[in-house]
Amino acid sequence: MRFPRHITTDAIAHQFRNGLKGNKRYPMVLMLEPLYTCNLACLGCALERHTGKLEDRMSLEECLRAVEESGAPIGSICGGEPTIYPELKELLEGIIERKRHIYLCTNALLLDKNLFGKVAPHKRLTINVHLDGMQKTHDLVCDRAGVFDKASTVIPGSQWRDPAHVAEWAQEQESTGPVVVYCVYGHEVGRATALRLRAAGVDARFLHGGIDGWERAGRPLGPKS
Ligand code: SF4
Repeated sequence: MRFPRHITTDAIAHQFRNGLKGNKRYPMVLMLEPLYTCNLACLGCALERHTGKLEDRMSLEECLRAVEESGAPIGSICGGEPTIYPELKELLEGIIERKRHIYLCTNALLLDKNLFGKVAPHKRLTINVHLDGMQKTHDLVCDRAGVFDKASTVIPGSQWRDPAHVAEWAQEQESTGPVVVYCVYGHEVGRATALRLRAAGVDARFLHGGIDGWERAGRPLGPKS
């Protein structure tokens, strides 16, 4: 990946200053992960990286302290999904105030709502959108609960539940009969949710192929209430 010239020159100046001090090893990029909460559940992502609770996030003060302590000229902010971080505006402005560069690594779904119009464009702020391919590949890799969340159809008789909060709604399941969970394509989200339900004592299975496979098999769909 190419870096803009002003970031490259600042990085070289940082190396030069450390060289003058005789430092052989020093941080160049701070990998800051303020939260493990995400609005997606991509296939290649570890479960604990996107199912964390928002209340367990790092505080703004902890984040800014890490920026100062590392001394790195560049901070790469990811997570989880950083645009969900409630103190995002204060965090970005605080890092810019400290004259560091930011790479905000995002899935871009909430940029409109949580960034644009709230945080002013700045040459120290670079938005880094993750794309795994063209539409079909990207949607497949993202295996996104968000797609289903926005979809207008469901399998008749089913109820939508947020996979990120399975521990909470697992308690509500009747213990008398089996539960079948499904996601969009029947990959990680459905499987992981079924496993977590089973760990909570629920007789749970997942639907191979998800709602996508169900629809392609010509089975009925109903409106989402
Ligand atoms: S966008 Fe995908 S890869 Fe990134 S944290 Fe969320 S689930 Fe993981």
